[in-house]
Amino acid sequence: MIDEVILCKYGEIVLKGQNRRNFESMLVKELRRRACPYGIFKIYFNQSTIYVEPQNDECDMDGMYETAKHVFGIIGVNRAKACEKNMASIIATAKEYLPAKLVGKKTFKVDARRSDKAFPLKSPEISRDVGAAILEATGGKIRVDVKNPDVVITVEVRDSHAYIRAGQEAGAGGLPIRSAGRGLLLLSGGIDSPVAGCMMAKRGLEIEALHFESFPYTSERAREKVLTLAEEMCEFCSKIHVHIISLTHIQEVLRDNCEEDYFTLLLRMFMMRLAERCAVEYKCGALITGESLGQVASQTLAAIGVTDSAVNIPVLRPCIGLDKSEIVAEARKYGTFETSILPYEDCCTVFTPRHPRTQPRLADVLRELEKIDFEGLLDEAYATMTTEVKLVFPEYR
Ligand code: ATP
Ligand code: MG
Repeated sequence: MIDEVILCKYGEIVLKGQNRRNFESMLVKELRRRACPYGIFKIYFNQSTIYVEPQNDECDMDGMYETAKHVFGIIGVNRAKACEKNMASIIATAKEYLPAKLVGKKTFKVDARRSDKAFPLKSPEISRDVGAAILEATGGKIRVDVKNPDVVITVEVRDSHAYIRAGQEAGAGGLPIRSAGRGLLLLSGGIDSPVAGCMMAKRGLEIEALHFESFPYTSERAREKVLTLAEEMCEFCSKIHVHIISLTHIQEVLRDNCEEDYFTLLLRMFMMRLAERCAVEYKCGALITGESLGQVASQTLAAIGVTDSAVNIPVLRPCIGLDKSEIVAEARKYGTFETSILPYEDCCTVFTPRHPRTQPRLADVLRELEKIDFEGLLDEAYATMTTEVKLVFPEYR
């Protein structure tokens, strides 16, 4: 007889019609990969639920439960006790399993569901009997409140077993990773770009990252910080290849040849073009940036218009309409905030203009680019690219 199991509920993908099976398989696959460090689990889906069943006593249920909460596509996670499909077993299990889960709670209600319509009792009858059993087992320490209970006890009578659980925790939501293709995140060491990457991973994109450095103007520690950020993002994104390109020579050429007010914008033209090349090589269908409208001079509508014109690939900017405080809240949720605020320099902060253009015209930017060998510098920078892989844990493949 199986004992405690983890049930994962999925949201939007039940609406996927013909594709639903694919999405379900992706979720199961992702959970199986993530289960590796936590022991041997049987993981399968049935009736809009994924079952994660430990196969022996060595399984780390707490670890498995925590990692399941970080799998995109899952909207609710809970631990449940399985029992035989008859009222005697359901009542006995409820009495034994639930009191410990209800400590500190004042009110509850029972919500029974039966997908097996041949079960002799109807849902309201199951709820009533289980409710009575809980009242008895807890000796009056908790009472029923059907309108606004502290905790909802769910009894599900399914194909092979009945499952009893107390409450449900929110999952990560969204769509399964990789279900929407692959995107290339321009990853700086700041607060915004890791959030942008996680937001797009939540909508099903596999994340590939590209970081620009400017050694020796930027330090080894700045690079380590970005790699740490990528590793932290893996808690939700699972696996990220981080490509690193050096912009040192480009920045020196810009400094020596172009008008200072345009430095940042010109650098961004290079970044976008290099990112587009990387996206093509690594089969990414879009670029992703952490830009937020009006946050800095290079993120005015005019500046975004200019940088967008450098490439022919969609540029996704999920933070565009968020305030800084909202981005910070997301960064805390995804666990990247503390690393992001470490004070290391970024290549964008090297040779920053004193008076950056906030209303640039494309013609003026292109005129500046004509002063230098744009294509030659792109080739040279792209050749400096190196790649590292980050994983949620070493066994993840
Ligand atoms: P962040 O907090 O993500 O660093 P920011 O507010 O500092 O963003 P900018 O420095 O103008 O904004 O950068 C805007 C976006 O450009 C970043 O969100 C990121 O996507 C990209 N970007 C900036 N610097 C780099 C870099 N060194 N490497 C890769 N991408 C970068
Ligand atoms: Mg930045």
